[in-house]
Amino acid sequence: MHPEAFLSCKEGMELLQSKPYQESVQSIIVDEGSLYFRMVRTSTQHLGKEQYYPLDAEAIPENRLFAQFHSPQTNAMKNQILTELSSPLSKLRVVFATVALGMGIDIPCIRHVIHVGPPHTIREYFQETGRAGRDRKQSTAVLYYNKRDIAMSRPGISDSICEYCKLEDSCLRMFLLGCLDVHDVMKDNPHVCCSYCKMQCKCSECTT
Ligand SMILES: [Zn+2]
Ligand SMILES: [Zn+2]
Repeated sequence: MHPEAFLSCKEGMELLQSKPYQESVQSIIVDEGSLYFRMVRTSTQHLGKEQYYPLDAEAIPENRLFAQFHSPQTNAMKNQILTELSSPLSKLRVVFATVALGMGIDIPCIRHVIHVGPPHTIREYFQETGRAGRDRKQSTAVLYYNKRDIAMSRPGISDSICEYCKLEDSCLRMFLLGCLDVHDVMKDNPHVCCSYCKMQCKCSECTT
């Protein structure tokens, strides 16, 4: 589901508010500026009081389920988000972020990175998705794109990221690593490798 739709619907909100999610999931959305502001506004308008946890909590930023992280914010605000993300007690579950939520930060328990539109290159994509799973636990990266995102007329877009977006007949992980000149890779469990490998998986969960 598109992240914007997810944050706007009842099921999405119930999931964010649920105990297992509160205890185990933290996510980051890496995104480009304009769309990101629209998403935050949509979430805030749709959610009203439900954007705070627990439901009867005071409407202050510390109780909000999501935050926004972008370059015009003060360093104090950014540091607050980084501290929250690192804390197991944090209520924060989704961060709408531009690439300002940068490299060099090492937050161990980020479980998902969702891109709304691809970055320009495979190397950027690899670095940005690499912010998830620093604790070596299974994590996911999801990339949403449309035809305009991968049009050759888009300034700076590389052939390989376009190829990656359109890849449907082989392992996405192998393709990414191949672009980075890593070829000697152990085949992972297909169930958790990538969307292509999952389709080939023959485990009981996938075949029933
Ligand atoms: Zn794969
Ligand atoms: Zn499977």
